[in-house]
Amino acid sequence: WAKAAGRGRWAVYDPERGARDIARSALVAGLPAALERGEFVLHYQPIVSLLEGTMLAVEALVRWEHPELGLIGPDRFIGLAEETGLIVRLGEWVLRRACADAERWWREFPDARLVVSVNLAARQADEPAIVDTVADALQTSGLPAELLQLELTESAVMGSAGEPLRSLHRLAALGVRLAVDDFGTGYSNLAYLRRLPIHCLKLAGPFVEGIRADGTDAAADHRDERIVDALVRLAHALELWVTAEAVETGVQAERLRALRCDTGQGRYFGAPAPGDVITARLRGGALA
Ligand code: C2E
Ligand code: MG
Ligand code: MG
Ligand code: MG
Repeated sequence: WAKAAGRGRWAVYDPERGARDIARSALVAGLPAALERGEFVLHYQPIVSLLEGTMLAVEALVRWEHPELGLIGPDRFIGLAEETGLIVRLGEWVLRRACADAERWWREFPDARLVVSVNLAARQADEPAIVDTVADALQTSGLPAELLQLELTESAVMGSAGEPLRSLHRLAALGVRLAVDDFGTGYSNLAYLRRLPIHCLKLAGPFVEGIRADGTDAAADHRDERIVDALVRLAHALELWVTAEAVETGVQAERLRALRCDTGQGRYFGAPAPGDVITARLRGGALA
């Protein structure tokens, strides 16, 4: 028996849980050195116009090239990095790397005007220095501000009052685009949303998943489709762009287009991949 955190609650010791916790703490311990050794890499996933089929943006998604464990996805270490505070340094590395890559795409393919979209953890957005960091990343890389988008979750933006909210306004004033990530899964205060200097809502994967991949009538009532319809109308009423996440099939892409969703992201349009894949796609033309 082990005493669990919290008042007077007891939990049975679970050896599997124990092993997971050890693996977890080993990962945490390895994070700072991994950053020093340059073991993090960025993959990029296309964000595509549903009307034109052109790639308008790419989302930067961090991976850890672990010397023994291979490629580790962010779901396994971003939470840890947030808890330990390392996310601030890791996030800054992601931001600078993404701006540098995007600046090269901009120079080589200026007509594409490819936007790079970077995730910002709540902890980063709360840092008073975030605006200076972003401004410096833009200046150092030479990337025009309008080719950078920052993605924040609902909880990161909705709770923001005082300093963080000022930061959002100052970031918007720099000319960068702001997007609300995983929209519809957190708490959204609509009165608050309309006062935020944001440009885009990213509809969370689960709503898109509810649009049956094969187009058959799943729930008969098309509930998720009707939610997407309502959220797209809400976004457009607020003059925001809408990106649908986790688009996996052509049928879903077609339905989303019919629902006036602006852009889509997901395996159907391309999985996250190394920057070279994006370069090849830009070289191959809009529809490659
Ligand atoms: P997110 O920002 O919502 O990113 C989208 C996630 O959906 C990515 O998972 C992507 O690989 C996945 N995805 C892509 N296509 C599909 C699809 O067709 N279907 C489904 N079901 N999923 C798809 P990934 O790369 O594992 O990233 C997970 C999360 O980790 C991200 O969710 C983001 O919250 C976080 N993350 C990733 N990179 C960073 C970063 O640099 N900084 C911070 N703070 N968070 C990051
Ligand atoms: Mg993943
Ligand atoms: Mg994101
Ligand atoms: Mg998302």
